[in-house]
Amino acid sequence: MGVITLANLIDGDLRAHAAGAYLDVFEPATGKVYARCPDSEADDVEAAVSAAERAAPAWAALPHGERAKHLHRLADAVEARLDELAREESRDSGKPVKLARSVDIPRAVANLRFFAEAITQWPGESHIDTRAINLTLRQPLGVVGCISPWNLPLYLFTWKIAPALAAGNTVVAKPSEITPFTAFRLSELTIECGLPPGVLNVVHGLGPKVGQALVEHPKIEAVSFTGSTRTGASIASAAAARFKKVSLEMGGKNPAIVFADADLSDANLDTIVRSGFSNQGEICLCGSRLLVEHSTYEDFKRRYLEKVKALRVGDPRDDAADLGALVSKPHFDKVMGCIARAKQEGGKVLIGGDAVKLSGRCASGWFVAPTVIEGLPQDCATNREEIFGPVVTLIPFDSEDEAVAIANGTDYGLAASLWTSDLARAHRVAERIDFGIVWVNCWMLRDLRTPFGGVKHSGMGREGGVDALRFFTEPKNVCIAR
Ligand code: NAD
Repeated sequence: MGVITLANLIDGDLRAHAAGAYLDVFEPATGKVYARCPDSEADDVEAAVSAAERAAPAWAALPHGERAKHLHRLADAVEARLDELAREESRDSGKPVKLARSVDIPRAVANLRFFAEAITQWPGESHIDTRAINLTLRQPLGVVGCISPWNLPLYLFTWKIAPALAAGNTVVAKPSEITPFTAFRLSELTIECGLPPGVLNVVHGLGPKVGQALVEHPKIEAVSFTGSTRTGASIASAAAARFKKVSLEMGGKNPAIVFADADLSDANLDTIVRSGFSNQGEICLCGSRLLVEHSTYEDFKRRYLEKVKALRVGDPRDDAADLGALVSKPHFDKVMGCIARAKQEGGKVLIGGDAVKLSGRCASGWFVAPTVIEGLPQDCATNREEIFGPVVTLIPFDSEDEAVAIANGTDYGLAASLWTSDLARAHRVAERIDFGIVWVNCWMLRDLRTPFGGVKHSGMGREGGVDALRFFTEPKNVCIAR
């Protein structure tokens, strides 16, 4: 099969971009180029913003139920292609097809359906006294920008565009240049489903070119971003100078805290293992620091390592594979560099620590063995900085206070999981740790109505449920004298 050429979606057309240059898109499992995506320029962003601006009044004027129908149609189209999109997502990102089939694509469908329904159920606000009736209008912002990362490509792309569109905005979206494929496929589906031209525009390309042009564009009223803390900081400063609304979902260095009183059934242990290695550890919510109470440390370690040892790294097409390839060669090099640094910092590699060489079509892929390291001080770089790969450190603790101090000992504050049978302790610790999301005896159990996001260097603002609809609308108070 030849190299597949992707195109931008602008004004309802899949269009060639202004400069005509392309970026290589790699299949991580083989290390080979299989597609190319537009290396778009500011001119393409300009065309997309103009199309979005033209489409905005009619889209905003549609009754909520009509906008919801469009989103439902798109959800149905994605769902009807579940297997195909799962294979495509896997080819683009390196994740196992079985993960894309069970998590990524179903969640993209759920995102579209959830916000289609949420907008029709969102109650209005009013404040009434003897003098006046105050109504709060929630009006769409106009044209908004959505910038998404490579780790959960269609999942996070739809997590942003669905609430933006449901709330009545038109969108210019920029998927990651590393994993652009399913956003391209979704672009095709919007045409097939009859989404009005200009309502959703997708511009592919590099962050510093397309992403930045989008953030700086005077007609883009708000930017919803998910990606690294470093990029988030640059977007925050560019947006601040223009008084733009921004929502930032950024990096994490999440703890999983296991108390000696936890129910460590096989099923719970499986979840703890999954929380470290799902999607090759490339999920912002993965628990990469595993804090374990001293009295149970050795026993826990033995059982945990047995399970990690059983994880299979393999061709993402193979349903027997638990972990596929890392997303890119630079990311593979970064993760291998982090493992080397952990050793220099005095860490002992208990399992893994190496690249995995597969044979056949995956011989040149970017595979890393699930890696568990112990013996590192809690304030070393390995325990403070995000690695975003299949690397977990084991850290013993003696008391609840110490567990809280270690958990809070990074600049990040996205998600934590607590494992305990003591409900009072669960409440206490959940209140004391600085994270936007705390899971107790579970991990990545998501209810789309809940506020999602991090504190400290992990995030600004919240997505999900009404928080997302609030972000994508402007409140206006109308005071009517009685
Ligand atoms: P990244 O910051 O490199 O890129 C994210 C997106 O921003 C891409 O589309 C990229 O092209 C764009 N971009 C890059 N520079 C830009 C600029 N100057 N202006 C505007 N846009 C720009 O992140 P990544 O490597 O794609 O994703 C991995 C990171 O995302 C990890 O740190 C991970 O923790 C984080 N993440 C966070 C969440 C969350 O919900 N908090 C979810 C998933 C991933």
